[in-house]
This record gives sequence, structure tokens and C-alpha cells, in this order.
Amino acid sequence: MSNNVLNRYLFEDLSVRGELVQLDEAYQRIISSKEYPAALQKLLGELLVSTTLLTATLKFEGSITMQLQGDGPVSLAVINGDHDQKIRGVARWEGDIAEDASIHDMMGKGYLVITLEPKKGERYQGIVALEGDNLAQILEGYFANSEQLKTRIWIRTGEIEGQAKAAGMLIQVMPDGTGSAEDFEHLEQLTDTVKNEELFTLEANELLYRLYNQEKVRLFDPQPVEFHCGCSRERSGAAIVTIDRAEVNDILAELGSISLHCDYCGTTYSYDEAEVSELFAEANSGNKTLH
Ligand SMILES: [Zn+2]
Repeated sequence: MSNNVLNRYLFEDLSVRGELVQLDEAYQRIISSKEYPAALQKLLGELLVSTTLLTATLKFEGSITMQLQGDGPVSLAVINGDHDQKIRGVARWEGDIAEDASIHDMMGKGYLVITLEPKKGERYQGIVALEGDNLAQILEGYFANSEQLKTRIWIRTGEIEGQAKAAGMLIQVMPDGTGSAEDFEHLEQLTDTVKNEELFTLEANELLYRLYNQEKVRLFDPQPVEFHCGCSRERSGAAIVTIDRAEVNDILAELGSISLHCDYCGTTYSYDEAEVSELFAEANSGNKTLH
């Protein structure tokens, strides 16, 4: 069974909301684009689950980027998602990484940058210190500081029948402040009992029933999550004309063509001399419609 889905739910009587995200294909697409070390695959999975959980809180059309940067063996790990739950991601690393390396072992001295970019309106960027044992704890700190909302997050990655899985849950008090601390703690304890196998394989209905069968839970329509890279030949062409023409000519003289490689999906876009001339001619004529 393949499921790439984000579910939102609500404990109506307790003023707590929840999210459940279960990913396999979307996760597999991201980790299969390079020969990532196992620990980094896991970290990308956690970042992917985090980003997807956050996309559900977007109150606008636009995108969200979660980017880990540091001075450790992993210099960058980034996931982009949007309000339609279209996601992509990539990481850069150097050298060997132990199988059980923690986020701190991998990132060294680092931080998490969260960027919210509405299609219309101002872009917001938050920088979060890597305080906590793992990404879930780091994000809980982010919610506590930025939104002052009590939030608990569970993130798991693993394998079922040879298929890589990444999944997570979130519970958060409603901003209206009517929920009680005792109720929240009770839901934390219940959610804490979730097993990887359940999280990876059960349908939302069944999973929520197993965890919270004493509670009244309203489950909203599921939203599909999909790997999608926004790159295209047009965009690559537009990038080439921003490079100095003399530099482009040097590359053409040496290699016969100029190529741009998309790190997110692995596609390479190549342009020969005639195509490059056409790109520059169009850019210079002020006609920005590239084809
Ligand atoms: Zn791409």
C-alpha cells in the first residue's frame, strides 16, 4: 500500500488540533536522487515530514522552505513545500557519516531557517537554533517561541517491506486558549504510544481510533502529498542569460555546450551554441518569452 497523505483532525471537546502525515513515494523520490548516507536519508525524511506538517498551517497560497545549515559534514539540507503539498528537497554533504549520526553530528554548529513565501505579500523568515535532541524537539521549540502554542511532534522514519517510509504526528492547542493543560497532557500520553508499524501502515481512521478511541475526533478530508520539482527548460534558459556572456562563450568553446543540472530532481538541461545565441538574442530584444 502506498500512501502520501496529510490528514488534519480536531478534538472538538478538548480544543486541540492534530495532524498526521504518512509518506513513502514522495520520500523515496527525494532520497533516491543521490547516494545519500543512511543517517542523512533519515534527516531528509524528518525534514520532509516537518515541512509537510507546517504546510498544513499555511494560511495563504505560497511556499514554505525548511533549510538546515551548518558547519558539519552536512552543509545543507532543504525541503520546499507549498499549500498544495507539492514537495521537493535536497542535501549536500562531504565525507563519511556514521549510520547513527545525530542531527548535531551532521550539522555541527548550525541552525534551521524557516521561510514562508506567500504568492502575494511579504516573505517571512525565522531562524531557529538547533536546541533539542532531534528535529521534532527543535520544531516544538519553534512553535513555543513563535506562536506561543503548546505543540508536540512525533517523527519516525523506517522501512516496511523494503520501502522507505517517513511519517509524523502533531498535536497543538487551539489558539483560542480554551483547552486545558491536563487534556493536552492526556493526548500527549496517548499519542506517545504510537508504534512505527501503525504510523507507517494504518489508514488515518484506524490509527486515530486506536490511539484516541475514548475521544471525539473529527477527521478532515485527506490531502495528497506529491513530489514535484518546479524546474524547467525555460527556467534554466532564463538562468543562463543572467551569466556573463563572455563566461558562457568560454564554456561553449571548451565543452561545446552549456548544461545546468537540477539538484532537486537530477534533470540536466543542455544548450548548444545556437540555442545559447537564441536565448541571449531573445533576452536582449526585451522579449522575455523563452521557448
Ligand atoms: Zn528539477
